Amino acid sequence: MNMSVRDLLQGKTAGTSALTVTPETTVFEAARILMHHRIGSVMVVERGRTVAGILTERDLVRGVFEKGNQVATLTVRALMTADPVVCHEDDTVTKVIHEMTTRRFRHMPVVDKTDQLIGVISIGDILKSRMEEAENKADDLEAMAGFVPERS
Ligand code: AMP
Repeated sequence: MNMSVRDLLQGKTAGTSALTVTPETTVFEAARILMHHRIGSVMVVERGRTVAGILTERDLVRGVFEKGNQVATLTVRALMTADPVVCHEDDTVTKVIHEMTTRRFRHMPVVDKTDQLIGVISIGDILKSRMEEAENKADDLEAMAGFVPERS
């Protein structure tokens, strides 16, 4: 099946919500959100829900290495990746996997036509949905096998 980003978002436990901060949020507060919710990224938005950047745990590690002890007091703007690659609800999950693999990142904000944040998908979400698909297929095959008349 050619699953869309919309389908994937609808299947997520946390629904279509994405946790957000602003560029002025402190790095400490962003780290608290990542830890508290056990997630790997927060979306950085401004003027409501316009996507300005993304901050992931990878950026925090780089920040500690490059900026030292003061990193927690900086603002998210100093560490985020600005203008991230985004996807749309109508995109296929296959296209997103391709982007993530070639560009080597694990998160993708989902935006609408006016660049407003709708949600986020991670490589973990994709893996989970692919596993469920595979399990469903296996169940279908097993059920079908049950209907095969035995040869006498
Ligand atoms: P990740 O593998 O998602 O933890 O991210 C690795 C690096 O890529 C970090 O510097 C992120 O800020 C950056 N990154 C993550 N997702 C995106 C994206 N969709 N577009 C651009 N950069 C991203």
